[in-house]
Amino acid sequence: MRIFDLHCDTITVCEEEHKKLRKNNLHVDLERMKKADSFAQCFAIYIDQKKCESTHLTAYEKYKKSLKYFQTEMSENKDMIAQVFKSSELKKNFQSGKISAILTVEGGEVIGEDLNILDEIYSDGVKLITLTWNYENAIGYPHSSENGLKQFGFEVVEKMNDLGMLVDVSHLSDKGFYDALSVSKKPIIATHSCARSICNHTRNMTDDMLHALGVNGGVVGLNFFRSFLIKDGKKSSLDMVLKHAKHIVNCAGIDALALGSDFDGIDGEIEWKDYSGMQTVVDTLGTCFNEEELEKICYKNAYRIFAQ
Ligand SMILES: [Zn+2]
Repeated sequence: MRIFDLHCDTITVCEEEHKKLRKNNLHVDLERMKKADSFAQCFAIYIDQKKCESTHLTAYEKYKKSLKYFQTEMSENKDMIAQVFKSSELKKNFQSGKISAILTVEGGEVIGEDLNILDEIYSDGVKLITLTWNYENAIGYPHSSENGLKQFGFEVVEKMNDLGMLVDVSHLSDKGFYDALSVSKKPIIATHSCARSICNHTRNMTDDMLHALGVNGGVVGLNFFRSFLIKDGKKSSLDMVLKHAKHIVNCAGIDALALGSDFDGIDGEIEWKDYSGMQTVVDTLGTCFNEEELEKICYKNAYRIFAQ
């Protein structure tokens, strides 16, 4: 089964730890992706404000550094993977036996308070921005907060709509989620979140949020992190993935569920280990979903929202 994974932090970790994308000891590398039938992978340039400060980099400089690493890796591995700038390239890459790489940014700090930077990073091929990470920024407030989008945040969502960039609400506060939903003219996405009624964590989505996302035509990528799967989870288990998947489909519909591993952004034991175990996840989901439903979850829903 082809896999379209909506979120991993592999690019940033590789850049920071001087590792290679082709083969490494992280959760994701090209060799394992190829074996596990990767169709497309969203690679996030992940911005942690506090970490940037400690390394004396602005969020924008950190973005540039990770971007350079990403571009070098794309060119060194062009026999296996190619960055996608237009959605038609997803099919083209597949036909030529290549994995599609989609560049994303996790943390709207990259644009600061300057809408023009959105144009610039769009031309770099950034197709999606996770509006906040775990800190307040010029766009809005993170999941732990009662506050939603700021005025600038509303402008950012509108401009992202105009450019054709996906608005990612994972990490955003509940109020921010509803704000983004109310202003966005296009479906929005939660790339790596789970169901809060199964595991009570503010990073997860309430039943009402899931329902609203489904009505909006949006997509949620199921996160593999143990603490989002089960309260005080010590290990990411297949049972819990299945439980969240069923619940998300019940609330948001079969057209809303996708995969958002969060590989290389999560720690702890994972029952299926790393990207090499992706087909084990598919087999587990296959105990409850039929072939057509599985295709939607594994790649078709994610494909649809990017193509839109
Ligand atoms: Zn994240």
